[in-house]
Amino acid sequence: MPDIRRRTVLTWLGAAAGCASVGGIATAVVAETTIGGGTLRTVSDGHLVLPESFVIGDLPADEARAILEAAGIEPGAARAPCNLTLWTSGDRRVLFDAGSGAGFMPTAGEITAGLDALGLAPGDITDLVFTHGHPDHLWGALDDFDEPLFANARHVMAETEAAYWSDPATVDALGEARQSFAVGAARRIETLGDRLERVAEDAEVMPGLRLVPLPGHTPGHVGARITDGDASALVVGDAIGNGHLALARPDWPSPADHDPERGIETRTTLLAELADSGETFVGFHLPDGGLGTVSRDGEAYRFSPL
Ligand SMILES: [Zn+2]
Repeated sequence: MPDIRRRTVLTWLGAAAGCASVGGIATAVVAETTIGGGTLRTVSDGHLVLPESFVIGDLPADEARAILEAAGIEPGAARAPCNLTLWTSGDRRVLFDAGSGAGFMPTAGEITAGLDALGLAPGDITDLVFTHGHPDHLWGALDDFDEPLFANARHVMAETEAAYWSDPATVDALGEARQSFAVGAARRIETLGDRLERVAEDAEVMPGLRLVPLPGHTPGHVGARITDGDASALVVGDAIGNGHLALARPDWPSPADHDPERGIETRTTLLAELADSGETFVGFHLPDGGLGTVSRDGEAYRFSPL
C-alpha cells in the first residue's frame, strides 16, 4: 500500500487563464501519495455544472434527491469536480485525461493553471492517456489554435473508444443533448491524427502502466493500473461516476452512461474489488481530489479520500 505523504490545497490568483474564481481566488485541491518510487497526484481541471437530467434522469426522483441532499448537493446545480491524475516516475510525467479545454464549460479547463501551480507546463507531460472520449476528458487535448496542448506527449486511447467516436453513425445514435459530444470528439480525434496511438483495452502502455477495460460509461472506456513493486493504484475514470448516487446505489443505471446495464456491471464489480483489496484509486469526478479508497456500507459504499 502507498504511504500518504501529504495532502495540500493549492491556491493561486484567479487571473490564470480559464480559472473559475470566487472573489478573484481559485482553488485546486491536489491530493498526493506515493506509489513505489513514483508520485501520484490529482490536479483539478475545475468542475462541471450538470443539469439534473444528467444526474437523476429517470431514476426514482425522491430517493435520488434524498441521496443528493445527504451529500450536500442542492437541487438543479450538481457540481462535478474534475480530477486529472498525474503520475510521475523516473523521467515520465504521465497525465490521465486532458480536461475540458476552453470550449466546454466556463467552470472547467483549468489544467494549465493546475500544472503551473506544481511548476509544470503542458509541454512537460511525456504521456497522455485517455480513459474515454467525453468532452471533460478529451477536449482539452487541443489548444485555442487547434494544436496539441501537450505538445511533447505520446497520446494514447483505446482503439475501441477512438473507433466509436470516429464512426459517423455515433452522432445519430446519441440523443440531441449529447450530439455535440460526438461532433467534438470526432473533430479532436481527427485533428490528433497519427499522433493518437490506438491500443488494445488491456494494453501495457509502458512498464508499470496497463489499461483495464471498464466499459459501459462509453463503449471503450478504460481505467489504468499503475504498479511499482508491491504498490499499485487504479485510475478508474468515470466508471464510478460520482461521489453520491454511484456509491449509494451502484445498482442504479446512470443517465451519464452510454450503456447503463454494462455500466452497472462494471461499477458493481469494480467497487466490490476495490473494497476487498483496499487498493488506492482515483475517480475523475469523486470529491476531495478523488484519490482514496472505498469500504462497504451495507449495500452501499463509502469513499475515503486520502
Ligand atoms: Zn467525466
